[in-house]
Order: sequence, then structure tokens, then C-alpha cells
Amino acid sequence: MAAKDFYQVLGVPDSAGQDEIKKAYRRLAKRYHPDANPNDPAAAERFKEISEAHTVLSDAEKRKQYDRMRKLGAFETPRGPRGGARGPAGAEEAFDLGGLGGLGDIFSSIFGRARREEERGEQLEAVVEVPFRVAMRGGKVPVTLPVTETCGTCHGGGAAPGATTATCTECGGKGTISFGQGSFAVQRPCPVCRGRGTIPSERCPTCGGQGEVRTERRVTITVPPGTETGTRIRLKGQGAPGKAGRPAGDLVVTFQVQPDRFFRREGLDVVCEVPINLVQAALGTRIRVRTLDEKKIVLRIPPGTQPGRRFRLRGQGVQKGERVGDQLVQVQVVVPEKLGPEAEEAMKAFAEKAGLRH
Ligand SMILES: [Zn+2]
Ligand SMILES: [Zn+2]
Repeated sequence: MAAKDFYQVLGVPDSAGQDEIKKAYRRLAKRYHPDANPNDPAAAERFKEISEAHTVLSDAEKRKQYDRMRKLGAFETPRGPRGGARGPAGAEEAFDLGGLGGLGDIFSSIFGRARREEERGEQLEAVVEVPFRVAMRGGKVPVTLPVTETCGTCHGGGAAPGATTATCTECGGKGTISFGQGSFAVQRPCPVCRGRGTIPSERCPTCGGQGEVRTERRVTITVPPGTETGTRIRLKGQGAPGKAGRPAGDLVVTFQVQPDRFFRREGLDVVCEVPINLVQAALGTRIRVRTLDEKKIVLRIPPGTQPGRRFRLRGQGVQKGERVGDQLVQVQVVVPEKLGPEAEEAMKAFAEKAGLRH
């Protein structure tokens, strides 16, 4: 993505007065403020842009300098960088950094960001839902991602098959236009030929000359053991493909762990509840308990087991590095809701023998 146009960011015309700019800023800042949008990176990024735009446009001197550079096409703008001075002389003049004060820093950070992003494909963000057991023990989940890919018809060139191409007159075929000089020099892709250096006689019918198409890509994501909701991983080169043979961007995955009906997590341990009946609790028994790996383990319940007692199945919990947790089996003693007349009699007889009040 290229650096954003500050007027577009605030949604005001470039003729806007200070009042209009201030009003637009207040309205947008309120809407995208991080306090109003917790855990929303897109809103945070927007808020940063809005603040940057306001810092420059609300200062008469900075705004004047900005307007001059904007005329030279240094920023993303729907009108395009038509008119205005071009070439080294004009750019040098616009980049009179000596008199800019803090503005030089703002611009170099904008350009720096735009330039880095142009070298690689776009970073993609995805929230991936993971079944509880896969998140605990690790595994793989398939994910479908929306991506922009190089057009298969024109292979990114933007030309219709058989079309002739002419050298772009705007950039002289270089594909870039440079601003500034020395260590401040920045190369921007030519907006007329989109950085290709040539103009086709007929645009590609598949992509309309963009050189890329929106599509979906299936990827299999490896989920590390012990993944929690909010765990993020960066997959190098799994993001959007880079333009003109540049490397692809990264894919940043945020995991969301689905709750399980049987298990819940406590640190490295997993807890499950298993019902046993009165007699099993009093006399003891053996029960079979499911583990995260879908194994069944036989667990001995000793006589006189109290409700809520936890039994530990070692090593059946969450694995994290060298450490591995346990599975805690908590027994629920289920009291029969209804007894038949005979069972009731037997229960009373039992109470007499055991010396229990009833
Ligand atoms: Zn195409
Ligand atoms: Zn060009």
C-alpha cells in the first residue's frame, strides 16, 4: 500500500479550512480511538493515520510543504499526480528539508513504510478457529484465505494477449519516479504504468489491466501444542504474492480456541468431569476415561470416594516445550432422583445397618 493521502484520510477536500479539518479529525478520532475499539488492529492503524494527517494539515507551514509534495504525486490520490513539477529539480525544491523541522521525520516514516511494503507482497491477517483438542496437543487445520494473486492471463503484465506495448512516457520506461536526493531520495512506482515501464495497446480482459485478481487460497496451518485464544504466529511468505517477482508477504494468524464439551484447560492441565453413582463412590470401581488423544484409560476409583475429588492422569495434559501437564478427572457423584419401592426399602435397610440417620 502506498502512503495515504491526508485529505482522503480525513475525508475533506484539499480546499478545506481549519474548522472543517478540525471537525473531521474530531469525528474520526472519536470513532477509531483505541479505547472504543479494543483489540482491533485495523482501527488502531486508522487512528494512527488520522492523527498523522491532522498533525500535518492543522499546521499551516507543514500543510504548505505537504501540498507541494502532494502535487508532485508523492501520495496515493484518486485524482492522480497530474500537473505540477516533475523531475529532480522539482523534487529537490519540494524536499527542502532544512526548513521542515519535524515534518522531515513524518515524511520519512511514511515513505519508509510505503517503500518497505512495496518490496514484498501484502501482509495478510487471519483469525483461525481451532478445535480444543488440536489446540492442546498440536495439529493441523485447513484454512481458506482471500488473496490477491498474479493474473494468470497476462502473468501480471496487464496486457491483453497479443497486445503491443509502448514505453511509458511518464517515467521513460523506468517504472519509478524519484523524489528527493541523497539519503532522502525515494522511488515511487509510476502511477501511469503502475511500475511496469510500459503501456499495453489493449488491457488484459481478465484483470482489466491490474495484473492481479482476487481469489482464495487454501493453506494448512500447523497449530503448536498448547495454543491459547489470542496466540499469534507469523508464517513467512504465506501472505499475498509480491508484485513483479518480489517475495510474498507474511501471513499472521491469530488462533481462536473453540471450547470443548468435555475438557477445559487449567494451565498445562486439562480438567474433565466424570459422573459415578452412589454405589461406585461408596464401594469403589473402575471407570474408563477419554484422554485428549482419544485414548481410553482405566482409572481406579477407591472405596469411599467423595464428590468433587480429582484424580490425576500423568502426562495426559498440554505439552509445552519440555513440560507436559496432566489430565485431572473430577468425579461427580450422582444421586438417583427416583428409587423404586424395593430399592427404597433396601436403602433404608442399608441405613439401619450402617447407623445412618434417615
Ligand atoms: Zn491480466
Ligand atoms: Zn511509467
